[in-house]
Amino acid sequence: MIKAKKKYGQNFLIDKGVINKIIEAINPKNLDQILEIGPGLGALTSQILNKVDHIDVVEIDPDMIKILQEKLPPSKITIFPLNILEMSNDAIGKYDKVIGNLPYYISSEILLKMIKTINNQKDLHFMLQKEVAERISSSTHSKSYGRLSVMLQYFFDIELLFDIKPESFSPPPKVTSSLVRLIPKINHENTVKNIDSFEKLLKLSFSQKRKTIKNNLKPILNDSELNMLAINPQDRAEMLSLSDFVRIENYIFDKIILD
Ligand code: SAM
Repeated sequence: MIKAKKKYGQNFLIDKGVINKIIEAINPKNLDQILEIGPGLGALTSQILNKVDHIDVVEIDPDMIKILQEKLPPSKITIFPLNILEMSNDAIGKYDKVIGNLPYYISSEILLKMIKTINNQKDLHFMLQKEVAERISSSTHSKSYGRLSVMLQYFFDIELLFDIKPESFSPPPKVTSSLVRLIPKINHENTVKNIDSFEKLLKLSFSQKRKTIKNNLKPILNDSELNMLAINPQDRAEMLSLSDFVRIENYIFDKIILD
């Protein structure tokens, strides 16, 4: 009997119906180069291998690696015994599809890392805590709209596919989960000038959610500059759209106010 390790966020999928639904959503094709993050006992991995000849996986837990090696023929699986956060961005960028029932303790960090890897990927499918899934797909005026929403929506079209109940896992997590699809945007309607300054701007804008944008951005912009950018200084950050933030970033980058 395998004991799930809390420190690695291990909740194994056991519901065959749910597993099939996830595989259907991922829609693996034989020539796809697929990377799975956190294969665990291989619930998704072995089903994907019914559709493709080979899969690459990255798994941190040596016990899981041993089980995968016993369960699946080495010709079909390449295992990187690594922390996903330490895998090189270039290496991740070569895959067509990235998938995973993510370890929830680092799901936001993994999502933010994915931004830096965008290259060949056609799509990414991740299982997340429902709360995080809602946060990254939410739009302005919603309670969950924040820094992570704007940052990820700049890079990806995000689709919330369906929810998965705790009972579909062993052990059951404390929260409901959701499957999301991320498709890298090829053409950005409006382009940021520098991604680091965009990141800093979002951090500052959402630093105190109850404060107005005027107050949060006081160190870098005054009222008349906000008005000139068609931003109401009395609005809160959650009322500003992605294109509002891109417009502000373009302006401040030109002023080279953010270092
Ligand atoms: N894919 C399996 C499933 O659906 O049943 C397991 C999913 S479980 C929620 C998360 C998996 O990620 C575990 O196998 C865990 O050991 C692995 N993991 C945790 N932290 C990791 C990290 N930093 N890098 C790579 N894998 C990690």
